Order: sequence, then C-alpha cells, then structure tokens
Amino acid sequence: MTQLIHRNLRRTPPTAVCAFGMYMRDKDGNTYMDASGGAAVSSLGHSHPDVLAAMQAQLKTTAYAHSGFFTTDVAEELAHRLGTDAPGDLNNVYLVSGGSEAIEAAMKMARQYCVENGETQRRVFIARKQSYHGNTLGALALGGNEARRKQFEPLLMTVARVSPCYEYRHRPAGQDPADYTAGLLDELERTILDAGPQNVIGFCAEPVVGATLGAVPATPGYFKGVRALCDKYGILFIADEVMCGMGRTGTLYAVEQEGVVPDIVALGKGLAAGYQPIGAVVVRDHVVERLRNGSGIFQHGHTYNAHPVAAAAALAVQKIIKRDCLLGAATVRGTTLRRMLRDAFGAHPHVGDIRGRGLLVGLELVQDRDTKRPFDPDLQLHAAVKEKALGCGLMVYPMGGTADGKRGDHILLAPPFIATEAD
Ligand code: PLP
Repeated sequence: MTQLIHRNLRRTPPTAVCAFGMYMRDKDGNTYMDASGGAAVSSLGHSHPDVLAAMQAQLKTTAYAHSGFFTTDVAEELAHRLGTDAPGDLNNVYLVSGGSEAIEAAMKMARQYCVENGETQRRVFIARKQSYHGNTLGALALGGNEARRKQFEPLLMTVARVSPCYEYRHRPAGQDPADYTAGLLDELERTILDAGPQNVIGFCAEPVVGATLGAVPATPGYFKGVRALCDKYGILFIADEVMCGMGRTGTLYAVEQEGVVPDIVALGKGLAAGYQPIGAVVVRDHVVERLRNGSGIFQHGHTYNAHPVAAAAALAVQKIIKRDCLLGAATVRGTTLRRMLRDAFGAHPHVGDIRGRGLLVGLELVQDRDTKRPFDPDLQLHAAVKEKALGCGLMVYPMGGTADGKRGDHILLAPPFIATEAD
C-alpha cells in the first residue's frame, strides 16, 4: 500500500480542507481557531485575498525562473523592500526556500566571509543551549535542542555553547537583572577566549526565543553586550529571526527593539506568512562587499532560490503589513492577549509564567508555582495540552521540558496580526 509519511508514523492527522482568516476546518467538519499560526507562520491568517491575487498574477507571468539564469522584478522588489526596512546597513538580501535553509545560508555566508579574508582557521560557531535553528544538519548542529539532535549527534559538527538568556528559570531570586545579564556576557566572552577569538566565525541567537523556550525576550542590554563582544573579537553576530521576525514581535525585525544591527539576519515563516515556502538572509554591506571583492560568488545555490511566486507572496504580505498598520496591531493585540491570559490564568496553580513580545506569547506550565518545579518530561504534558486544546477547537504550539529541569513544558500562542480583540 502506498502512503504519505506523516511526522507521527502511527497516526494520520486530521485532513485540512479549508482555512479562512483565523480559522481552519477539517474533513470531519471540525473548526479550529488557529491561535498559533501553525508554528508562528500565518501572520495574516488564511486565504487573504490580496496575497492570493498577487500569487496568481505572478503565476500567469513567470511561475519559475532559475536564479542561475534570471532574476525577476518581483524578487528584486522584495529584496529592496526587506533591505530598506531593515536597520543599519542590512541592505543585501539572499532569497532561499525556508528557515532552515536561511540558517544554512547564513552559516555558509559567515564562513565564506572568513575564508575570503584569508582566515581559513575560523571554524567555530557559538550558539546557545536549548536553542533551535532548524532541522537540516548544519542548522541542527547549531541548535542546542537535545531531543531533536540526539540520534543525529554523530553527524553534527561541534558548536560551542553558552547559556540562554532565560530569566524566569535561570536568574536566581534576588539577583539583580543587570548582574544576571553581565554574567551571561562574561560566559560568552570566556567561551570566545576558550575557543580562541581567531578561530570563531560567529555567534548565533534568536532575539526573542520562540519554540524552545516559549516566547522569551532577552534582558535589557543583553544584545547590546553581545554586539560589543562580537565587535571586540571580530566575530559575526547572526540573528535568527525565522520565528520572531517579520512583525511577530511588533517591529518588522525583532532586533530593532534591542537597538543593535546584526551582521546577518535569517528570516522564514512570517516572510510570506505561510502562503509560499520562502526564507531569506539579510546581510550587512561589509560582509557582502568582502565576497564581491573576493571570489565574487556566494557558494550556496538551491533550485528554488528567489522563487518568483514565493517572492510575490512575500512581497504582498510585506505590503499588507505596512498598508494595514499591522505592526502596531501586533503590539496592541499582544499586550491585550497577555493581559487577558494573566486575568484568566495568572493565579492558576500550574501556570508559572506568561510572557512574550508582540504576538509571540508563551505560557510556561509548572508543577509548583512557588518553586517553579517543572513537570516530569516523561509525562509529555505539552503534547497532552495540545491534543486537549485541539479537541476544543484551538490550535496552540507545544514544547516539552528537559530532563535536567532547565526548561519546563510550555505552549506558544502566535495568532495572526489580523486577530481582533473579540477573537
Ligand atoms: N529558526 C528558528 C528560530 C525556528 O523557529 C525555525 C522553525 O521553527 C527554524 C529556524 C527553521 O525553519 P524551517 O522549519 O522553516 O526550516
């Protein structure tokens, strides 16, 4: 018997038959409120007529053009827009087919930048524990999500690790937040020095941690400190904005709220809001100039780079976000959502923390609110909550805790920016 392989090989998920706005329907007639945007993807909701029209128009002109032969107006316009709206001199945009590929391209761009400068000894990336940067082998190696890495470990390159910035669980009671931040930056500096600064390519982190920690912004000054250390030791700062970028946190780029300019930003998910698979790397001038003045070729090419229909979808999404003032909406709705969640669950014995930025919102589930003791990860509570919510017609995005108790179960909410207060 032929079959489609599903993630869960033992269970076929419900069949989606239609989706509109914030709602999806399955073949059995069940309706679901998409409160997580899938996995923080659908920032405009489903079936937005303007995105569909833009895609259809592009399909009628040029459905596909291999980037080794042609460019297209739509890809050029999208790149121009993403670069213009990015902070600092993040002016250069390379279009890929999704978030993991964006991370792969960012890592390769960073390594090539070193090689073209004659620094071939630079081979170390530094990333954080309990991070997720994608599922292809390079991106999986970069991420510190043990469960996802476990069986592929022998295939993964070594990455140096530092602690995440995760105040709720890791800042000891009574410690000044500024001291906590300084401690994390000391750890990063020690890690750079241990590896030998001349061997380090770059440091990668999510400005607001999405899936692995559940919508956790950094403490004030953390990313300014990261930028300063990267500058001090001549290493690149890569911001993974695959989940938190493109308006999800209330600004188009999440780093805008940190007041820093990374050397490379990886985008995915919200870029085309799920209408097409597309990702991007947005790169500062000095990085691209080095490649342009060196070999002149970026050694990363996939068949679907700069896909015209994907670019048309992304461009339409970007225009709608601006036209309909949806960055402001994400900020306002996010504040309202967190307030409503606090009203509803703020005193719940098993909700330890309600947090986030913009419309990236997390709830951490604990056994004990006072001690913050997480549930036993073997209970798979997060998965049970997801199933229970689905049974009630609500989509939430779950993540389990770790056996060492350094992370608890949580669920992520990432509703579309078009959600109303009534939703
Ligand atoms: N980086 C982050 C922060 C992500 O959350 C994800 C996906 O969840 C990725 C990278 C990988 O993106 P994709 O699943 O589109 O390959």
